[in-house]
Amino acid sequence: MNSGSPRLVVVVGPSGVGKGTIVRELRRRYPEVWLSVSATTRSPRPGEVEGEDYYFVGDERFDDLVAAGEMLEWAQVFGLNRYGTMRHAVREHLEHGHPVLLELDLAGARQVRESMPEAQFVFIAPPSFAELRRRLEGRGTETPEAVARRLETARDEMAAMPEFDAVVVNESVETAVGELASLMGLQKR
Ligand code: 5GP
Repeated sequence: MNSGSPRLVVVVGPSGVGKGTIVRELRRRYPEVWLSVSATTRSPRPGEVEGEDYYFVGDERFDDLVAAGEMLEWAQVFGLNRYGTMRHAVREHLEHGHPVLLELDLAGARQVRESMPEAQFVFIAPPSFAELRRRLEGRGTETPEAVARRLETARDEMAAMPEFDAVVVNESVETAVGELASLMGLQKR
């Protein structure tokens, strides 16, 4: 990584756009990239691992983390559960010179832009809204109500695309990973 490359990259994209897959593949190719593990009040999905996918915490613990100033940002996502980024972990990795990736919702990204305007903000967009709906319904992990709520949020998120430094359209994972890596200043692998 070049010394002039952005070290902190914030990725935002609607639920179902394939962010998880892109980020997983990026980290497989570039193990030096550190992905922040968020705290959330949501329950684990089957297969999710504590401390790897999220820190699954109760409402009280989340309140304590916020009150103690431990959250770099936090937001209530889909009007339901709270998610937040642990400030000290991000700071430590940046201090050690690791490229840091945050995967946030729009409200969280806006908070980070206030406190760390030097970060780079990347929006992952679906090829179309219809395609996003197809992917989200096909995933089968959410109830129809939850899918509807995520699609509603997606409309707001996509309207905010002009706020971002760059937009990566997820047509193919291969291309999207290449684009994101290049935006992070990582050499082609
Ligand atoms: P999921 O419940 O599908 O794992 O995540 C729902 C949404 O929460 C995702 O779109 C993701 O971007 C967002 N999210 C995950 N972690 C954080 C976080 O630490 N802060 C904020 N603001 N949003 C998050």
